[in-house]
Amino acid sequence: MIFSRDVGVATKAKNLNIEYNKQARTIMVEKSTIKILVLDDEPFILKLLAHMLTSLGFNQVATCDSGRGALERIDHPNSPPDLILMDLNMPEMDGIEFVRHLVERRYTGSLILISGEDERMLQTAEKLVRAHKIPALGHLRKPVNPEDLFALLEKWTPPCQRGSLAAKNAYGADEVRAAIVNGELVNYYQPKVDLVSGKVVGAESLVRWRHPQDGMVFPDQFIGVAEEHGLIDDLTRAVIEQAFAQVKTWQDGGLYLHIAVNISMDNLATLEFADYVAAAAFTAGITPDSIVLEVTESRLMKDLSAPLEILTRLRLKRFCLSIDDFGTGHSSLSQLRDIPFDELKVDQGFVHGAAGNDTLRTICCASLSLAQQMGMKTVAEGVEDQADWDFLRSTSCDLAQGYFIAKPMPAGEIPDWIIAWEVNIENLMKSPGVR
Ligand code: C2E
Ligand code: MG
Ligand code: MG
Repeated sequence: MIFSRDVGVATKAKNLNIEYNKQARTIMVEKSTIKILVLDDEPFILKLLAHMLTSLGFNQVATCDSGRGALERIDHPNSPPDLILMDLNMPEMDGIEFVRHLVERRYTGSLILISGEDERMLQTAEKLVRAHKIPALGHLRKPVNPEDLFALLEKWTPPCQRGSLAAKNAYGADEVRAAIVNGELVNYYQPKVDLVSGKVVGAESLVRWRHPQDGMVFPDQFIGVAEEHGLIDDLTRAVIEQAFAQVKTWQDGGLYLHIAVNISMDNLATLEFADYVAAAAFTAGITPDSIVLEVTESRLMKDLSAPLEILTRLRLKRFCLSIDDFGTGHSSLSQLRDIPFDELKVDQGFVHGAAGNDTLRTICCASLSLAQQMGMKTVAEGVEDQADWDFLRSTSCDLAQGYFIAKPMPAGEIPDWIIAWEVNIENLMKSPGVR
């Protein structure tokens, strides 16, 4: 077991038919210091992967043909790897057992799973690794394609960077309260696009906290705190007032977009909420039909009578109701049965990658079909790449939202972004989405 120090990177890359671009080369130079351990019981695979890695510019690659040997290396103080490429199916110690040993050793590096097992097995194993809080960069099926391997290697980040993100997580109720009072919450907007015409028809408002010291803080780091400490009503009101005023500003400038606002189930505990939202729209000078209220049920509600009453009244007032993250959370189907939603948003977990994954595709299409049979509009969130876009254009889904189209952005950037998007529509609509 030695780290092979291979040179002649460019020649081998050529042999592997990989096109290096300038940017990729810069990334690789930085990453040539990453210690990689390849674990597989088949000597041929070890050789092949080591060869691919060195060809890609990684020159600290070790190989190991058993879990036991790999653990010895990890226990050695000078040489714990930063990244392990691991086979799942090995005779003495299988990959799942090996991961358990990594957890016991508090392994801080990352992992890529490589196996001949079927896609669903690999996905399950990857979820298991993540559940153990080990960063899984992804999985690859054998035979490994160098370009796919390269794409996963690009996701690698040093543990110290991951640590600093996690450390930001712990905000207290007082800090969140102060942020609301001091007006530090700001809405970003992510466009929603019609999959048939390509036109921008709306945007979702997503709250961010412009923290004076920590910079931009994302909602998963403070929405839960606000919900737990009775601050969610104040937070939602701040978001709604900003969003409704923004809708009015855009309308005054001739831009008519449906704007979605996220509503927490905890907002639906006080009966005045429906009247508050209606009054806020009236004060802003906009009509309810330009507003979509997205509701997610992230935890079980004991008493549904208040949410039911509030949502039904909001619908009567002509606000559009959307069931967010459909397919996750609690009792999505019974919510559909009980609440008169106008729109269903298929959760990103069933959208991204659906083109190449039978399970995801089946769930995504079944959700779309369910919504359509109930007369609801459909939105796919998490449209991250061309494959997701092309796939959705071949389905009956109405709208798409995701990084492939645009990331959430400040309100001021939306008009210019729309102009740029519309210039590009023709090219995008050439893609083979046939309905
Ligand atoms: P959500 O309502 O499902 O919003 C979609 C989330 O997915 C957003 O994360 C968005 O930035 C992210 N996203 C968009 N496109 C993609 C993509 O292509 N790939 C991936 N991986 N992610 C994508 P964000 O802004 O961090 O918000 C997270 C969640 O926080 C939201 O999920 C929503 O449940 C909650 N949230 C955001 N703003 C508010 C708010 O004003 N009030 C309440 N109660 N919750 C909010
Ligand atoms: Mg949402
Ligand atoms: Mg969602």
